[in-house]
Amino acid sequence: MKVAILADVHSNLEALEAVLEDMGSSASLRMKIQRGKGGGDQIWCLGDVVGYGPEPNRCGEIIKERVEHCVLGNHDAGVLGKLELGWFNAFAREAIEITRKEISKKYRTFLESLPEIKKLDEVILVHGSVRNPLTEYIFETHQAEENFEESSEKICFCGHSHYPVVFEKDDDVVREIVPYFQKKIKLKKSCRYLINPGSVGQPRDGDWRASYGLFDDQSLSFEFRRVEYDIEKTQEKMRKLGLPEFLIQRLALGR
Ligand code: ZN
Repeated sequence: MKVAILADVHSNLEALEAVLEDMGSSASLRMKIQRGKGGGDQIWCLGDVVGYGPEPNRCGEIIKERVEHCVLGNHDAGVLGKLELGWFNAFAREAIEITRKEISKKYRTFLESLPEIKKLDEVILVHGSVRNPLTEYIFETHQAEENFEESSEKICFCGHSHYPVVFEKDDDVVREIVPYFQKKIKLKKSCRYLINPGSVGQPRDGDWRASYGLFDDQSLSFEFRRVEYDIEKTQEKMRKLGLPEFLIQRLALGR
């Protein structure tokens, strides 16, 4: 089975649609997503469906309809009032308040239904980290190392930092693997992994293109992918909604 791993969509419909298009039409992938049927390819989402961007309902709809497993992110929790707004910076807070006005009851209820941690066979999904699912950012090797102790699954997929990275644990040594885009990383049978696919809707690694990952549980491999999208269309919608100019500009910078 191939699994597209998405994180931090952040109400960016154009980026999300471009990613769906990439996984369906790209000759090397041609994924066939079959929700709930077994045997088909799947999409998993690591939270922050909403926040920052202008399209919480359309993104909520796509994630609800097409994604097999999804966990709750800190911005989703902020919109629901499950995480205090004081936790967020002023721009994020403003976007959460706008999202609260925009989001329909249907997709709010969908966000309410999301767990903070999802355990699957040999895989665990969280937004931030296993020990602190909503709020911990894993940037450093020692953080990855500590979080390997918090679970026993072979692979932990997490988002939140908007920074694509793979940490590999070989016995007691944890190392960071630099993600080479469009190139497969072979996952070793003897190692454990902590993998962040980067952000679909608001990348922060200096590359504005939507980021996601492709996990193959048969060949045990992971591939980072980057996809261009109509960023000006998203920015235009953000302006119309009155989202902060800082958030509009940062999309183009990938920061
Ligand atoms: Zn996020």
